[in-house]
Amino acid sequence: MSLLEVRDLTVTYAGGAAAVRGVDLRLDAGQKLGLAGESGCGKSTLALALLRLLPSGTRVTGEVLLDGEDVLAMKWGRVRAVRWAGASVVFQGAMHSLNAVHRIGDQIAEPILLHRKATPAGAKRKTGELLEQVGLPAARAGAYPHELSGGQRQRVMIAMALACDPRLIIADEPTTALDVMIQAQILRLIEQLVADQDLGLIMISHDLAVLADTCDRLAVMYAGRVVEEGPAAKVYEDARHPYAKALSAAFPRIGDPASRFAPQGLAGDPPDPAALPSGCTFHPRCPVALESCAEQDPAPRAAGPERRAACVLVGTPESPGERTGQEPEALEEARPSTP
Ligand code: SF4
Repeated sequence: MSLLEVRDLTVTYAGGAAAVRGVDLRLDAGQKLGLAGESGCGKSTLALALLRLLPSGTRVTGEVLLDGEDVLAMKWGRVRAVRWAGASVVFQGAMHSLNAVHRIGDQIAEPILLHRKATPAGAKRKTGELLEQVGLPAARAGAYPHELSGGQRQRVMIAMALACDPRLIIADEPTTALDVMIQAQILRLIEQLVADQDLGLIMISHDLAVLADTCDRLAVMYAGRVVEEGPAAKVYEDARHPYAKALSAAFPRIGDPASRFAPQGLAGDPPDPAALPSGCTFHPRCPVALESCAEQDPAPRAAGPERRAACVLVGTPESPGERTGQEPEALEEARPSTP
């Protein structure tokens, strides 16, 4: 049984806009899944829906099986327990998530006292262990958030997420606010913890390069759907869906001066969920769209071993990733001019 299985998940906000549409995902213990896509593609909504953290009035359908138990069908008491002991979230921007007027040790100890029914002494001991696990001295438990650096605060957020020994960690842009050196340290720390404790990790980022470096598998979202999914390195290096290809090409590659000085990009923005285009929702921006794409919304199809992509071109010689050794001319033309 998979640690997490998401089946046909659809999230519709009050007002009628579907921000996530029919998403299927699987994650095993010890696996790291990256969720990529531009802002507004539904990544964070999907992550919050997994633990029913969305505002009231939001309609969530489908199944979220955590160790075989459907989170969407649980009673609220069970959901509250699962939020710490089954799965927990590391949010971006630790300063917004930590309480500025409480010592970090007290904030880490709170879920241990509440959900583990630990004694104060036991919670204090566990807090010290958690801080050391994330590379901070146990004595820092007495510090207030403003007394720590950005990287230290993010480590505290990770310690807090681990407080009740969850099986799954959902990290929403955990390093976006950090400089590259600290970002690398935090990513290595997360990787280490996942490996040591056999956790499952879902990491959300708009930065495909970070996800490709950290995760085993990548799912690229566009307009609320997963448009490509597969082994992280394959999706990053050789995407089959034109959107995933463009997203990947937007990041300069180390050792490739051409990509550094003329990174490719994609004009326009993702569509408003309340006014999705007909057919393939990517067609207004797709550099290789066919006429039929305005009418036909392609279902995900096999795009190689353990890969799938939702594009009519997948499996044809016209698919971007299947034009061996050749960059699609249309994608070339879509590059913004270099200043
Ligand atoms: Fe582009 Fe058509 Fe494929 Fe959509 S289905 S990504 S519009 S080629």
